Amino acid sequence: MSPARPLWTSTATELIALLRSGELSATDLTRSLLDRIEEVEGDVRAFITLTPEVALAKAKAVDDARARGEDPGPIAGVPVAVKDIIATRGVRTTAGSKILHNYVPPYSATVADRLEAAGLPMLGKTNLDEFAMGSSTENSAWVPTHNPWDLDRVPGGSSGGSAAAVAAGEAPWSIGTDTGGSIRQPASLSGVVGLKPTYGLVSRSGLIAFASSLDQAGPFARTVADVALLLGVMAGHDPRDATSLPNPVPDYSAGLAGGVKGLRIGVVSQLMGEGVQSGVRTRIEESIALLTKLGAEVGEVSLPTFDLGIDVYYLIAPAEASANLARFDGVRYGLRVDAEDIVKMNSRTRAEGFGAEVKRRIMLGTYALSAGYYDAYYGKAQKVRTLIIRDFARAYENYDVLLSPTSPTTAFGIGEKTQDPLTMYLSDVCTVPTSLAGATAISIPCGVAPEDGLPVGLQLMGKALDEATILRAAYALEQELGPMPHPLLWGEPS
Ligand code: GLN
Repeated sequence: MSPARPLWTSTATELIALLRSGELSATDLTRSLLDRIEEVEGDVRAFITLTPEVALAKAKAVDDARARGEDPGPIAGVPVAVKDIIATRGVRTTAGSKILHNYVPPYSATVADRLEAAGLPMLGKTNLDEFAMGSSTENSAWVPTHNPWDLDRVPGGSSGGSAAAVAAGEAPWSIGTDTGGSIRQPASLSGVVGLKPTYGLVSRSGLIAFASSLDQAGPFARTVADVALLLGVMAGHDPRDATSLPNPVPDYSAGLAGGVKGLRIGVVSQLMGEGVQSGVRTRIEESIALLTKLGAEVGEVSLPTFDLGIDVYYLIAPAEASANLARFDGVRYGLRVDAEDIVKMNSRTRAEGFGAEVKRRIMLGTYALSAGYYDAYYGKAQKVRTLIIRDFARAYENYDVLLSPTSPTTAFGIGEKTQDPLTMYLSDVCTVPTSLAGATAISIPCGVAPEDGLPVGLQLMGKALDEATILRAAYALEQELGPMPHPLLWGEPS
């Protein structure tokens, strides 16, 4: 690594090498990232809460262990940023909502515990759309996060803070959650790598619930190899989550370089049609040509039920949200707006505590679940969900991996879609099918769109628990594509 290159431009893998060889201490690394945050955070606003003391204490523990001759673990010392919907003991966790503005959890999510056990200093809690409902991070009760490629644009959402922090060099990697696309879509719009794990691979214990049959936490980083490393730390059975899978966790890094020779890749025609920005299509088609050149067998596959993905998702996710958000009642935690009786207290607390999009979802979900409408809406949505799962299964008879853009467009302007929720919901058209099927998918940057110079994300979808295959294909494509241009905030590449 050239000494002229600042530390914050390094990947986690590069930093691990420096830490393990003793050339760099975890404390110096953490300090330098805190300096980087100080430098750009005023523009980016990726964080709701910064936790420098927590990060430096952990960094010191890692350095002390090394000084004693102990091994603090293979990836110890590389700082991480964590989405503020993941409970962290003793550190305020707001879910981007006023209703949890003062909530300090008495316990940590299993995911947060695992990062801690792996020796990763936590830099802070990142911004998100309130309760992860949104595609732009503009639904945060705090501030919108700005895209490091163009500060007038959104970073995507709902994990926009986690994506922007990585894109801006504030953290080499971070954690987000994905219910219908909230890791993949911001990864795409911010030009970083993001993976949504198979439902049940990563524990949901301590994730503030949005839609329980869909929510999954997953990693962001600037390279596929880094995402593979971080996923390995997060994944694995957890007795505290009844839907956690017992399967052993493979070594995701081991098979990365296996290549794509003979890999059967299906390009989903429903996700390449109308509504896809021309520069997005150009870059995706170029990547398809590269994969073919590398020996993949690429074909086109039609999955007709994917056209219904958005409709199904926007019934099931709000229905589950309406039930999950009933717990915010002003009694147990968070905001309380006092009133003369408990019913009034409860309704005033919720009226003041929730933002407009959250209220919209609670109303949609309550309606879809109510007597007389349940069969027509929620019941029907569940049936179509099954049809989507069957469409995937049929496609996997002939293909190993499915391919599409991650988002039909590059990053849109701040304020551009806030008045039109339906247009905003369409941002998720490529990502919701995988979520509904409980399977896995990754988004990787595949260049910038010629018309706006903004990053384009390519999505590779895999069978449930087949993270290894999509990681391998993503790695092959990433190597072939070569280095991505840097966002504006990186300045001139040295
Ligand atoms: N944008 C989608 C929504 O608003 C997905 C959000 C998510 O995955 N958390 O629901």
